[in-house]
Amino acid sequence: MTDRQGFRVGPPRDEVDIASCSRRNFVKASPAVAAALVSASPEVSARARQSPTVDGGRVNAILANLRRFGGGSDGGTTRLAYSDDDLAGRNYAAGVMEQAGLEVSIDLAGNLIGRRAGTDPAALPIVTGSHIDTVPAGGSYDGHVGSAAAIEVALTLHDHDIALRHPLEVIIFPNEEGGKTGSRALVGRVLPFELDIITASGYTIGDGTARIGGDPARIAEARREPGSVAGFFEMHIEQGAFLEADGIQIGVVEGIVGIRRWNITVRGMQNHAGTTPMPQRRDALVAAADLIRDVSEVANTTPGRQVATVGRIEAVPGAPNVVPGEVRATLEIRDLEMSKIASVFAEIERRARAIEEARGVTIALVHFYESLAAPTDPRFRDIVEAAASDLGYTNVRMPSGAGHDAQSMAELGPIGMIFVPSRAGISHSPDEYTAPDDITRGANVLLHSVLRLDAAD
Ligand SMILES: [Zn+2]
Repeated sequence: MTDRQGFRVGPPRDEVDIASCSRRNFVKASPAVAAALVSASPEVSARARQSPTVDGGRVNAILANLRRFGGGSDGGTTRLAYSDDDLAGRNYAAGVMEQAGLEVSIDLAGNLIGRRAGTDPAALPIVTGSHIDTVPAGGSYDGHVGSAAAIEVALTLHDHDIALRHPLEVIIFPNEEGGKTGSRALVGRVLPFELDIITASGYTIGDGTARIGGDPARIAEARREPGSVAGFFEMHIEQGAFLEADGIQIGVVEGIVGIRRWNITVRGMQNHAGTTPMPQRRDALVAAADLIRDVSEVANTTPGRQVATVGRIEAVPGAPNVVPGEVRATLEIRDLEMSKIASVFAEIERRARAIEEARGVTIALVHFYESLAAPTDPRFRDIVEAAASDLGYTNVRMPSGAGHDAQSMAELGPIGMIFVPSRAGISHSPDEYTAPDDITRGANVLLHSVLRLDAAD
């Protein structure tokens, strides 16, 4: 039996050999990558049966294998959603899912899904996964580690012959970097116009969805009902430097921050830069400079972990010999609490009114974008924290400043997220790096979080 993408969907095999699985598909391994190809450690101790752990060599080898599809000599990866490399990477992931005994399918949005039956027919699925697409000239870890870890959890359960009460679903969500298309389709949020958006690969989201085995005309039918999953766990690299700076192994994510953005327009008076005396100026750019400094100061001095950014600025007319009459800029504020974003904005707005007074300008702040915060479930935080602590890993609770597929999945059921350290906090760059031991630890926390949730309800 083959599915629409053409890979074989068959019964589970007894042997797990991810290297041969990948050889089945397309590409020759470079010597460096071939050296990283290791198959599963054969020995499974009696102790591990009591408290199973993932095969660290194997999960890291899955990651190394994924690099065959778009990996560059600089350590980075360009695997744009819907590109040939994306198709090949998904095909490889599907093959490893099969090796884990998962029943593999592709839904109408192109989500690649590996499903394992549970023992309780009434139990809702426990879902875990992430994405394997990248930004152009991206890293080899963002999304990939959570995808490899989710598959490794299934492989470990298969190795140890562990039956879960709940079904398990491993999902590789398509086009995370281009708008979280796969996960947003699961919650019915992909709007028809989005199908015409041209992605970095050159394919529209609609054409790309068809390429990977979905059906853009029926993408709305990929939607699942709220309450249809027992919960969702995503392991991900931190993409910040808190864990590394504090020497902590695991981040227990409290939630994905909300985002609000405003367009700023400062209006003063355009005039001659040579003939307008300083006291008579109503310089829009000087007023904007005051505001930018205030934005930073308010975000810095308000208790909490909010961040605020002026990321774009343009002076009009923008000539060396003209006092700027108008400045257009943007303001963005992020926090786990939307109410905190509102209170930080209120203080910035108060400062803006004072600057208007002092500089003889007007400042308009017009709201244009909002992404709601997605807190993780308090019970899932406890589960992740207990899993990490029991495994002897140092851990800390922290927010996620970046968006993730988990944000969409929060509409279907409770979510939990596990962060592992990112070297120097660098992400979306070939310099993105997470150490193999950190990836193994994260995968172990993911495994034990799934086991704990399965036992808990
Ligand atoms: Zn990601």
